[in-house]
Amino acid sequence: MLGKLLLLALAIWMVLLLLKQYRRGIGTRPRQSGKFESQDMVSCKECGVHLPKNESILKKGAYFCCKEHSDKAEQ
Ligand SMILES: [Zn+2]
Repeated sequence: MLGKLLLLALAIWMVLLLLKQYRRGIGTRPRQSGKFESQDMVSCKECGVHLPKNESILKKGAYFCCKEHSDKAEQ
């Protein structure tokens, strides 16, 4: 009986430990690296240069680094 209680306590402890690690994993990883590269950086469809999304020109669903390149793609 005592052994079972100990096992149960151990199981609960391990679950808590896993939950802690799991939460830590969710909390830090996406904020630090993933979002900045995948969401805030785009590449020019004409020359392939990487630039922040808010500085790029969006035309017909594609991103461009400057007006000349967006005009080029339209012709
Ligand atoms: Zn360009």
